[in-house]
Amino acid sequence: MQQQKFKNWHEKQLYTSFAWLVSCLMCGFLFATVVEYVAKYASGIFTIISLVALYGIGIAAIELFRRFWMKFSFTQYCASSATCENCGSYGLFKVRTDTWPIYARCQKCDHQWVIGQDDE
Ligand SMILES: [Zn+2]
Repeated sequence: MQQQKFKNWHEKQLYTSFAWLVSCLMCGFLFATVVEYVAKYASGIFTIISLVALYGIGIAAIELFRRFWMKFSFTQYCASSATCENCGSYGLFKVRTDTWPIYARCQKCDHQWVIGQDDE
């Protein structure tokens, strides 16, 4: 069972989400490049192959954006609940990387709360 400081964990989640976003943008550039290729050079069977490739790249871009957005909004949601209600310290707790929801315990005042419970 691995534990990380919340701030480190949060940073890592953000980096991961932006890696998905950059991949999505790369897919976008690749898409534009293939479109240009189809418009200028492709003929016969290569047109069909290029269109199939475009389809795949398009699906990949959508999926990559979805992953970015899910991770990013999740991370921001956690960050918005990371302030201790008792003493107001931000992110002063550890996160178990393999469990959900996050059981937070303030390291300053020992106040406990849960991030990600459904009945909030
Ligand atoms: Zn506290």
